Amino acid sequence: MLRIYNTLSRKIEEFKPIDKDKVSIYTCGPTVYREVHIGNFRTYITSDLLRRVLMYNGYRVLYIKNITDVGHMRNIGTGHHGSTGSPQVEQIDPIIEEAIKMEKTPEEIADHFTKIYLEDEKKLNILPATVYPKASENIKEMIEIIKVLLKKGFAYEVDGTVYFDVKKFKNYGKLSGNTLSKMDNLLKAVRVSLETDKKDSADFALWKKAEKERLMKWDSPWGLGFPGWHIECSAMSIKYLGDTFDIHTGGEDLIFPHHEDEIAQSEAATGSKFVNYWVHAGHLLVNEEKMSRSKRNIYTISDLEKKGFDPLSFRYLTLTIHYRSKMNFTFKALKGAQTALNHLREIVSTYDTPKIGCAEYEEKFLNAINDDLNIPQALSIVWDLVKSDYPMRAKAESLFKFDKVLGLDLENAKNYIKKEEEKIPENIQKLVEERNELRKKKRYHLADQVRHKIKKLGYEIQDNEDGTTSVERIK
Ligand code: AMP
Ligand code: ZN
Repeated sequence: MLRIYNTLSRKIEEFKPIDKDKVSIYTCGPTVYREVHIGNFRTYITSDLLRRVLMYNGYRVLYIKNITDVGHMRNIGTGHHGSTGSPQVEQIDPIIEEAIKMEKTPEEIADHFTKIYLEDEKKLNILPATVYPKASENIKEMIEIIKVLLKKGFAYEVDGTVYFDVKKFKNYGKLSGNTLSKMDNLLKAVRVSLETDKKDSADFALWKKAEKERLMKWDSPWGLGFPGWHIECSAMSIKYLGDTFDIHTGGEDLIFPHHEDEIAQSEAATGSKFVNYWVHAGHLLVNEEKMSRSKRNIYTISDLEKKGFDPLSFRYLTLTIHYRSKMNFTFKALKGAQTALNHLREIVSTYDTPKIGCAEYEEKFLNAINDDLNIPQALSIVWDLVKSDYPMRAKAESLFKFDKVLGLDLENAKNYIKKEEEKIPENIQKLVEERNELRKKKRYHLADQVRHKIKKLGYEIQDNEDGTTSVERIK
């Protein structure tokens, strides 16, 4: 039986789904105006692990991850400080900003980065969502919820913009603890301070009036406009999973205001409890600071690949730290993870035709993963099994089973090993470059000597007609 920490109750609870054998999960998905960084991926891997653990326990999982292709607003400090001492903010739609910069339409930008996101997800062996709804294709559903909120008196309109009236929702703050009475000015400042027309600074926008030059805007009962970020997730989760569903996940920074506001507007609109279990992943840090674009301390999956790492080494690294703890990222740790993963691949690739697993270790593994996703402990059980005296075949059977949760693609271990062997070592690459330089300078004799040296080291060079040089290991 799975036990999981619920941010809502601040306790580890026994997991009880609404339906006996089916679990519904919603994960706040990526904003697609740039490449997603590995901090974001730590959160997506955590949600993937939770999903896999549920599947391991025999549940069917309906998994929704939205694509935010209607840029949610960002507050950008201009650097100037007003008379109050607080930084002035301007509203920027990141997708539109990127589109202008790259001379593309917002749709082209969103499509481009959605494609990269999905490829990265695949490289990390994150199971694809059942549905990836796009915010831009669910505007009608958002408008419907806002209409209900207005009718029920939970929202009000000011000149084409609709706000949620936080004071009207009695349970505001139940997730984050930021109740109205506790919400001081600092917390209220999270709201975009340009919204000077709202009744209370704690209120948040459900729908915003579009400025004339805005590219992405939609018709609504309140005129041309665009949705607030929070309403996107309420509309898409309710559409696919119903008024009440089992699990909602995201990174810990989304607890407030995003998830608090999702609860307020959803429960006010439907009159039902929105989500039973809220699961939040701890942040990925660099030098003890949160990895984030604004701090310019991010790495993407392609950055890791360029440095010669296999994306799954990052997945392995995330398995070593409990999902609720913060995790400090270093390349030294990533190297360690890559070595451990390579080792595991070598071990499983020597096993063949597995039959019966090791019940003792399988029981321990199940207990660990069901104990609030204690994957680090599960991983140490993996290594205990590897070191144990069980026959190879039995070990392999259990390891392949465990990999249904770990997601290290151990079934294809042989392919990774082959790929690694086919990689041209750095010293050979350097010699090839050296030879190319010599050829450019027409010092053919010396270039030939380098070719011989390369051959002695077991690699053959071929000069192609298009001027490029290819290298192959001599079989
Ligand atoms: P965003 O695109 O900013 O909405 O972030 C996408 C997801 O990544 C959200 O669930 C965030 O909470 C999460 N996230 C953002 N930064 C980090 C980080 N440094 N470590 C872990 N998760 C993060
Ligand atoms: Zn969301």
